Amino acid sequence: NNENGELEIFFLPFMAHGHMIPITDMAKLFAARGVKTTMITTPLNAPLLSKTIQRTKPVGREINIKVIEFPRPNSGLPPQWCENLDSVPSQDLFMAFFETTSHLREPLEDLLGEHRPSCLVADMFFPWATEAAAKFGIPRLVFYVTSVISLCAWQCLKLYEPHKRVSSDFEPFLIPDLPGEIRLTRMQIPEFVRQNANNYMTQLLEKVIESEFKSYGVVVNTFYELEADYAEHYRKVLGIKAWYLGPVSLCNKDPEEKYHRGKEASINELDCLKWLDSKKPNSVVYVSFGSVAKFTASQLTEIALGLEASGHQFIWVVRRNKEENDKKDWVPEGFEQRVEDKGLIIRDWAPQMLILEHEAVGGFVTHCGWNSTLEAVSSGVPMVTWPISAEQFFNEKLVTQILKIGVGVGVRKWVRFVGDRVESKALEKAVRRVMEGEEAEEMRSRIRRLAQMAKSAVEEGGSSYCELSALIKKLSSLGF
Ligand code: UDP
Repeated sequence: NNENGELEIFFLPFMAHGHMIPITDMAKLFAARGVKTTMITTPLNAPLLSKTIQRTKPVGREINIKVIEFPRPNSGLPPQWCENLDSVPSQDLFMAFFETTSHLREPLEDLLGEHRPSCLVADMFFPWATEAAAKFGIPRLVFYVTSVISLCAWQCLKLYEPHKRVSSDFEPFLIPDLPGEIRLTRMQIPEFVRQNANNYMTQLLEKVIESEFKSYGVVVNTFYELEADYAEHYRKVLGIKAWYLGPVSLCNKDPEEKYHRGKEASINELDCLKWLDSKKPNSVVYVSFGSVAKFTASQLTEIALGLEASGHQFIWVVRRNKEENDKKDWVPEGFEQRVEDKGLIIRDWAPQMLILEHEAVGGFVTHCGWNSTLEAVSSGVPMVTWPISAEQFFNEKLVTQILKIGVGVGVRKWVRFVGDRVESKALEKAVRRVMEGEEAEEMRSRIRRLAQMAKSAVEEGGSSYCELSALIKKLSSLGF
């Protein structure tokens, strides 16, 4: 504990919206329990973070912000590109971005040496943070913004390498030892596992997996009841110390707090609410692929055609790939006029939680990013799953095969940022299955039960609430 004898936790987010949003929510959870919390961030992200924290008026203690800067001139990318993955202008710079973030180690060590917090919660993509904290005797917790099923799957793939024993890229293989008979093909697992290449990303992810064992433990944004078999497997079979504290987004109780997570929305929230208020319950499909994916113009055209053919109303968040030479407009002829009353198109950033929680929304076409998946679960909205990359194919299995709260659009390949091509017909069919008929009703009632469980998990006496109490007690008992 710090010099006043109280527990003090530093949080170090990875600079991508899908990581910064949930770790801020997690910091709020600790602050709400009276723990002194500080977020560490870089100059470009600091205003965004402080706005989020100020606007959302954390219950309990105030959250502090400390800024660290990249040591120049050797940090690689120019500052506007090295501080948020979302702003990296081309695919080629993807790896350089990750490599650049490792330069934060030096200023982080300076900060830890000076302030000596009781614990450092650092994002999974900073495996070096474990050693950095250890230099000062500070325990490091790995912050995971993913499902436990994917954490287990990663470890099982590494241990047994079943993907090396299939004869073709599209032949399904069973992930040994993993509960639930999960089968994937080589093309659906993360590139770094498939290729075994000797590049920075492969080495980084090897270290990430190792750091689960080397760190004090792991905190995961999930709740026990959602993935109980995997939660047990991870702790008991793989032997990793883990605390399941989610869904952390549920710490935002006030509607104001829900508008302002992450970036400023590209639509006026009240206009968005007014549009939704004019629709019947469960009649709108929300279509969004997170903060990093950007589609080609021709893929966007397929989505437009698929949504129109489904006949359902929609809110569609469009983010286009700026790298493309293809100047062709993505909108099919007459599309915007034809769908004027039926569809709301948001360019760039939507107030996602606000939309998902509205009773008019009955389905969510998602890339299965873990935050989006959990937000769909917490709001009780069944999903059309369209995984793109990262660990999203594992999350898709949890949604469609294990929990049966969604329908796959049929993606066959893992492709970073842009994803595999999906035809309009496949989207139309999957949207109809999630929005119409008996199967849709069954999925809806299953996910509503889970939404209830999610709420109970974070309330006093619930599983996530108790795990947080146990973690705070444990950290306090370390007493330094
Ligand atoms: N998000 C949002 N508006 C958007 C797109 C995303 O508020 O237009 C939020 C979303 O609610 C989620 C996060 O950004 O909390 C995206 O995280 P996720 O893990 O789903 O995907 P990633 O962006 O990491 O691929």
